[in-house]
Amino acid sequence: MATFQEIKGSCFCGANQFAITEPAVDTHHCHCSICRRLQGAAFVTLSIFPKSGFGWTKGGDLQRFSSSDQVHRNRCKNCGSPLTINLDALPDLVAISRACIDPAADTGHPDETLRHAFWPDRVPWLELNDNVRKAAGFDK
Ligand SMILES: [Zn+2]
Ligand SMILES: [Zn+2]
Repeated sequence: MATFQEIKGSCFCGANQFAITEPAVDTHHCHCSICRRLQGAAFVTLSIFPKSGFGWTKGGDLQRFSSSDQVHRNRCKNCGSPLTINLDALPDLVAISRACIDPAADTGHPDETLRHAFWPDRVPWLELNDNVRKAAGFDK
């Protein structure tokens, strides 16, 4: 694997900024109804990183909403950008909104992880014709 280049990201207003020093283990487009509603989007792209390589360089005191007992979604208290998701089932990992990471950054996820997750739940008002794999649930 090529040497991973540190990547950075932030919320819209810049109150919360982070840096990542280890590559993602997973990137997927989530079409589940929970992500769609909570992020106000047709689907949400999440990259999942080891917590050991993630750190706040500014801020980091976020508003937390638990969409279930196991899933905790964290937003900027000022601008509302959805930044991170903590999953109790994955205590060593953190999911990050891909759109809050610098657009040109290479998240370093293994190519085979990229997929449309919860594809059957997708909205009917957006047509997607890419060649990315479609998964019925979260499964790789
Ligand atoms: Zn903000
Ligand atoms: Zn989802």
